[in-house]
Amino acid sequence: MSRKRTPQDFSFKERLGHGSYSTVYKAVDRSTGQLFAIKVCSKKHIISENKVKYVTIEKNTLNLLAHGNHPGIIKLYYTFHDSENLYFVLDFAPGGELLQLLQTQGRFNEAWTKHFMCQLIDALEYIHGCKVVHRDLKPENLLLSSEGKLMITDFGVASNLAATDNLSSTSSFVGTAEYVSPELLLQNKSNFCSDIWAVGCMLYQFTQGTPPFRGENELAAFEKIVNLDYHWIYMVSQHITDLVSKILVLDPDSRYTLPQIKNHAWFQGIDWTNKELIWKGIWQ
Ligand code: ATP
Repeated sequence: MSRKRTPQDFSFKERLGHGSYSTVYKAVDRSTGQLFAIKVCSKKHIISENKVKYVTIEKNTLNLLAHGNHPGIIKLYYTFHDSENLYFVLDFAPGGELLQLLQTQGRFNEAWTKHFMCQLIDALEYIHGCKVVHRDLKPENLLLSSEGKLMITDFGVASNLAATDNLSSTSSFVGTAEYVSPELLLQNKSNFCSDIWAVGCMLYQFTQGTPPFRGENELAAFEKIVNLDYHWIYMVSQHITDLVSKILVLDPDSRYTLPQIKNHAWFQGIDWTNKELIWKGIWQ
C-alpha cells in the first residue's frame, strides 16, 4: 500500500488559476520529479461557503473515473489533507483551457473541430459508461496536454446515476447558463442527454467562436435555449450544420445519442476503435 502523501512531498511552483473554492498550483513530486497540478481547497472556506457537497462529489467522481485510466479524463492520483487544506493531486495540463485556445484562434477549422470532437466523444462515452453525467461540459472545463490532447475536468456538479434510478436525476439549475439543456430548464431533469446537448453547443462554438445561445443575462440565454433560437454566423459544411441540428433537439428522447453521433456522415472514415489515432496530439 502506498503511504499517505503530505504537502512536504511536493515543491509548489506557480499558481495555475483559482476557482470558487480552490486554488490550483503546478507542483513537482520531490522524490520522482513528476509534474502535477495540485488543487488546494481551504477547509474553512469550503465550510463557510457551503461547498462540502461539491468537493465530495468531485473527489468521489474523479476516484471512480480514475480506474479506467482514460486519456481524456484528468486523473486524480492522491488526495490528502492537513489542518487547513484539502489537496487533490491531478494530471498537469500544460496547454491550459480549450476556451483560451479558441479565443486566441477566433474559431477552429474543420480539422481541429473534428480532432477535439472525436476526443470529447470518446471521453464522454467512457464517463457515461461509468454511469456519470458531467453536467457542466464547456470549453473552460476541457484542458489540454502539451500535445493538444483534450482532458475533461471539473466534476464538482457531476451526478452518478448508478446511485439513483439509472435514468435521470432531479436537480435545480447547475452548470453554466449557455450550455444548460432545455430539459433541465423546463422539467428540472438532467441525464446523459443533457451532456450531449452541451456537446452540440460546443460543436457549434468550435466553428463559430461563440456558443449558440447567448443573451445579455442568464434569463435571455434560457429563453433562446427553450426556443431553439440560434443562427449560423460563418459558413460551415452541411455535415456540421446537419449534425448540430440533430443534437440541439429540445426533446431529449429525440436527441442524437453518442452512437448516432459517431455514425453521422461527418465522422465518415473515423475508426472509433483505433484509440491511438483518436488520441493522437494535434501539435505532434
Ligand atoms: P469553479 O470551481 O468555480 O467552477 P474552476 O473549475 O475553474 O472554477 P479550479 O478547478 O479550481 O476551478 O481550477 C482553477 C483554474 O486552474 C482553472 O481555470 C484552470 O485554468 C487551472 N487548472 C485547473 N486544473 C488544472 C490542471 N489539472 N492543470 C492545469 N491547470 C489547471
